[in-house]
Amino acid sequence: MPEIDKDQVIERLRSVAGPDGSSDVVSLGLISDVLISGGKVMFSITVPAERAASLETLRAAAEAAVRSVPGVEGAMVVLTAEKKAGDTASSPVPQAPPSRSGSAPRQAASPPRGKAGIPGVDAIIAVASGKGGVGKSTTAVNLALALAANGLKAGLLDADIYGPSLPRLLGLRDQKPEIIGDRTLRPLTARGVEVMSIGFLVEEDTPMIWRGPMVISALNQMMREVRWGSLDVMVVDMPPGTGDAQLTMAQQVPLAGAVIVSTPQDLALIDARKGLAMFQRVDVPVLGIVENMSYFLCPHCGERTEVFAHGGARDEAERLGVPFLGEVPLDLQIRQTSDAGTPIVAADPTSPFAKVYRDIATRVWEGVEHERAEGGRPPPRIVIEE
Ligand code: ADP
Repeated sequence: MPEIDKDQVIERLRSVAGPDGSSDVVSLGLISDVLISGGKVMFSITVPAERAASLETLRAAAEAAVRSVPGVEGAMVVLTAEKKAGDTASSPVPQAPPSRSGSAPRQAASPPRGKAGIPGVDAIIAVASGKGGVGKSTTAVNLALALAANGLKAGLLDADIYGPSLPRLLGLRDQKPEIIGDRTLRPLTARGVEVMSIGFLVEEDTPMIWRGPMVISALNQMMREVRWGSLDVMVVDMPPGTGDAQLTMAQQVPLAGAVIVSTPQDLALIDARKGLAMFQRVDVPVLGIVENMSYFLCPHCGERTEVFAHGGARDEAERLGVPFLGEVPLDLQIRQTSDAGTPIVAADPTSPFAKVYRDIATRVWEGVEHERAEGGRPPPRIVIEE
């Protein structure tokens, strides 16, 4: 097989006109770093967010151009849009869905019937929060590791396209997924958990704004164009808020349930309630609420301090009639281990913090099994033959 010449790929992309039609995508500086793996090429194109409707043609044209380069067996191209000052990333403009990937039309309330599962994945759990900064990603990553520690085969999908953080949290920043087959990615593996993130493709600190079709297209690629192994459970780190990405997830895949993360403050709980209502609207069972940064455990004297009005989430869960899954203390070690790329459940599995997450994982899994018992048989398990 001839080696793919990166310069040749870039040269070929010069034939693809930019969104304004006047110049090309390379000259306009819209192409990300081009990743080449075997016969496969992967990159992203930055496009103006307000031109969402015409983006799919551009993406397809770039993909076709790259495929004509000698040695290229497959190309994977995703569209991203840089966020302009003043844009609110969490409220993408709804657009008609693209025709590719068999995406279901965007609907406001009810999920489409007969949603296809992700091949090889048994149960998909969304971890969501009403707003950013409450510890959703920290919870998602530790929950996945805890589910694995409890004996399940677990995967982790970073659907937080506005701020993908799993590459950093799992120490995978310098790694890229391998492209296999025509346009399929092999997920990376960290601490026994399979991981896929849009952050492998775009820089974590590039602010992004995503429009409806791009959200659907990118999420579909990450869910369905990835060769997930045979997983008991996939934890999805959702973007904060209740925008298009959440609706897309709920509409495109059969979610076994959602876990809502909240801090004890009232304000966050109001946001959490919105998240809860959104999942209920699209018929996704809410497995429960996790109270994060619930209390402070002094590392020196062991004294427990209620930094905020602790217990708000437990009361709220009771009021709303959803399970309370547990409380995670505010602790420096939780932050430091995440920052170091080895979250606490993996870094210190015998610590009280790891136990907190494992107990939450146990309750989450009980919830999934309960929902299945209530809701009938589990979804069929689709296996891809190698
Ligand atoms: P989100 O995904 O909701 O934006 P993150 O998981 O990225 O939130 O957490 C935000 C920040 O708070 C990170 O620096 C993280 O390390 C820290 N953090 C999250 N949970 C805890 C906790 N229980 N104790 C201490 N720091 C935490």
